[in-house]
Amino acid sequence: MSNKQRTIAEVISFSGKGLHTGELVTMKVCPAEADRGIVFRRVDLKGAPEVAALAHNVCDTSRGTTIKDGKAKVSTIEHILSALWTMGIDNALIEIDAPETPIMDGSARAYAAEIERVGTVEQDAERKWFEVEEEFLFEIPKKGVRVVITPAEEYSVNVTVDYNSTVVGVQQHRYDDSVNYREEIAPCRTFVFLHEIELLLKLGLIKGGSVESAMVVVEKPISESTKKRICKTFGREDIEVERGYLSHQPLRFENEIARHKLLDILGDLALLGRRIRGHVEALRPGHYANTQMAQLLEKNLK
Ligand SMILES: [Zn+2]
Repeated sequence: MSNKQRTIAEVISFSGKGLHTGELVTMKVCPAEADRGIVFRRVDLKGAPEVAALAHNVCDTSRGTTIKDGKAKVSTIEHILSALWTMGIDNALIEIDAPETPIMDGSARAYAAEIERVGTVEQDAERKWFEVEEEFLFEIPKKGVRVVITPAEEYSVNVTVDYNSTVVGVQQHRYDDSVNYREEIAPCRTFVFLHEIELLLKLGLIKGGSVESAMVVVEKPISESTKKRICKTFGREDIEVERGYLSHQPLRFENEIARHKLLDILGDLALLGRRIRGHVEALRPGHYANTQMAQLLEKNLK
């Protein structure tokens, strides 16, 4: 990877529903000067306050990563961050008119396609690196969560997921410089277990983005009434269970779940604001563990 900073060549724009509110969101990714980093600007708020995509600004990781600085708060930043950072963008100003990014199809595919279409431009400033010189570890033993970073010449990330699920099984995927992010990682969608959302489904609380844009894993056989409810929620009549997943969204890769977890951790670790020279080994990672690791590294910046 080149050692000069880069920004996006032109403004790119996205609109879609927010995951939590179901409301329409417009998000514009604009070029930004060297050393600015990736910054979100809430253009719907008075004074258009900004929040930098940096680890110390993380305020919530319960359903995606949320950052906050004063009145500027933005949720579910990890997918756009993953695409921008992994595709070489160090500096960008993201104007957004809502408290969350559009969920799109649950992946970073649209983001990656637009970044590829307009391209990036080199800037007159050196990239900032984080050289991993010792091992960094974050783990939650009870949950089998473990993220370790060790010294290495290049950046690489290996993700393993195991949820004791007969449908998902044990999945693994690796990212390094040889991987085509746009084709192999960006299209991988977020997922949810049906049993996690069954109550919401019963209460009719499932909103637009939350399931239409996700793979739904069905661990146990479902009743006819549940199936009817699912079909009603999606406004479709033909949803079945195929190999443990709801058929409204066929799998894009056999290990799409591990690949999505990889997409997420690439985005969350971008919150360091520096390119990492080191190898990341992540077992059952999630936004909490990822951002804890980003904060741990941030504290070690000299
Ligand atoms: Zn995600």
